[in-house]
Amino acid sequence: MQKLLVIYTGGTIGMVQDHKGMLVPFDFNNITENVPELTRLNYKLEVISFDPILDSSNINMNSWIQMVNIIEENYLNYDGFVILHGSDTMAYTASALSFMLENLSKPVILTGSQLPIGEIRTDAKENLITALEIAAAKDENGQSIVNEVCIYFDYQLFRGNRAKKVEANKFEAFRSPNFPVLAEAGVHINFNSEVLLPRSESSFIAHKTLQNPVSLLKIFPGISPAYVNAVIHAAGVKAIILEGFGAGNTCTDSWFVDCLQAAVSKGILILEITQCIGGNVEIGRYETSKHLAKMGVVGGLDLTFEAAITKLMFLFGQDLTIAEIANQLTQNLRGEITA
Ligand code: ASP
Repeated sequence: MQKLLVIYTGGTIGMVQDHKGMLVPFDFNNITENVPELTRLNYKLEVISFDPILDSSNINMNSWIQMVNIIEENYLNYDGFVILHGSDTMAYTASALSFMLENLSKPVILTGSQLPIGEIRTDAKENLITALEIAAAKDENGQSIVNEVCIYFDYQLFRGNRAKKVEANKFEAFRSPNFPVLAEAGVHINFNSEVLLPRSESSFIAHKTLQNPVSLLKIFPGISPAYVNAVIHAAGVKAIILEGFGAGNTCTDSWFVDCLQAAVSKGILILEITQCIGGNVEIGRYETSKHLAKMGVVGGLDLTFEAAITKLMFLFGQDLTIAEIANQLTQNLRGEITA
């Protein structure tokens, strides 16, 4: 019998109405009493709940370290892991965990829901049941089909560090615009084996150090020098994610170029990603990004913002120089970029 560990962190999924009609967290230790369908899956399920459970808006770097600790301590004892998590920051958590959990040979599937598990029209039961099935899925050699951190939501399995929450209300809350879905659940669960990451033969490594000396400069027409300076000179900043237009373009006003140059001269690393939901940065394709190439701005290719920020947190947590971090940013570490 497959053994799966459910890590319940919080989010809408775990809510039921109490006798006064108020939404209150559901006790996942009694998961099979509340979702009797689970007994028909014939898996051995164990649950570890965060205490306190969190709306995912309150998830932070410590929460990620807590999740990694739980997975590390239980890695050998389970066939797969399902993390129940609020959808709001699920793509950040999935991205962070993808970097922190190296050489996975077991699935780590995040899921949640748009409606609480206790509501009649809930999407929680399908998301939970299929996430468990995916976490338990084995190939003909008895090895896990999925060996990476994923998000399962509304009949689709996404690579965690490629996914984005794109809908606040629809059940179809996630997309991975720059990467194919890893599996679709219909009558059967069809895995897209051509794009799934291969099972790692190296030993599993749990990285538990993160640092966040990163700020975000999202540009917009009419941006002011005061705003740009405030971002660049914020205390403790060692890296800036520059969210440019289209293929990585920015305004070319001399004050703007000088501000960025001042940051680079101070040793600040600038990683550029695009504000577009799909596609990638190509510094130097247009006149309006040539100045960035000259300064040594790193092109983030098709990284999502969620993957960019968590990759930087992860790399700053390793003992690396700025030059080494810049180099790693352009390497495909966990399937997060099309390098
Ligand atoms: N605010 C909730 C959360 O992210 C929404 C959800 O669970 O989908 O925790």
